[in-house]
Amino acid sequence: MIDDRPVMDDHLHLDPDAHRGIDAVRDFARVGGTHLLVVNKPSWHLGVEAETGSDFRTVFERTIEIVDEAANELEGNAWPVLGVHPGLITRLVDDRGFDPEEARDLMQAGIDVAAEYVDSGEALALKSGRPHYEVDDDVWAASNAVMRRAFEHGADLDCAVQLHAEASEDMTAVADWATDAGLPSHRVVKHYASGRLEGPTPSVMADKDRLQTAAERGEPFLMETDYIDDPDRPGAVLGPKTVPRRVRWLLENGFEEAVRIAHVETPKRVYGIDTEATLERD
Ligand SMILES: [Zn+2]
Repeated sequence: MIDDRPVMDDHLHLDPDAHRGIDAVRDFARVGGTHLLVVNKPSWHLGVEAETGSDFRTVFERTIEIVDEAANELEGNAWPVLGVHPGLITRLVDDRGFDPEEARDLMQAGIDVAAEYVDSGEALALKSGRPHYEVDDDVWAASNAVMRRAFEHGADLDCAVQLHAEASEDMTAVADWATDAGLPSHRVVKHYASGRLEGPTPSVMADKDRLQTAAERGEPFLMETDYIDDPDRPGAVLGPKTVPRRVRWLLENGFEEAVRIAHVETPKRVYGIDTEATLERD
């Protein structure tokens, strides 16, 4: 913790086998990090070429295992966020001969299985979204249908849905789909967000410019690194120590209220988790 405060990274990945795994969690904890939301790596990164929804279970279960280990390293806690990476649709359609409707059905089946883990209490939230790059209209429509399935489960299970989506500061149309499904828009989280966003709750990448924007705005936000724990792309995203370091920087610059918003109030509002009560204080 930092000055008795919880410090949460809202979105990172841990590789159970190939890369740093728990060492990355130790790095995070050493500089003051206390809570983690760990998102499963894209299925194909773990060598899984899913053909049925059940094939995602290996990916989800390995994530749950490493999250249990991570929780043991933290003064706070760690929770899994499970789902299907939206980039899978391109692999299915371009490389594996699926048509967009077949890809949609498989990805929705994967989301259905992820929802089972939320229902049983083994996972905290769902992960879905749509490609952040240009795709054909039928692939776009299929991706939106997958995302809307995730919103239906979110409403049904009363859980948040993290989205991977195109760079945008206005996602009110997507937030409206969530509301239509019965999921309040603030329980939709746009990961890899900039400091300002209309619609869902932004999970802001922990660089100084974006954080300053979010902090000055005074609205609910979360902080993340999207650390990918990938040996082939060591510098692709922010390292696991970044959120605690940026919390110190925010505090040094007078943004105490924003730190409280990002690490206490917004986690409670979006996920229903209490980062203070789950902190072991000496
Ligand atoms: Zn990610």
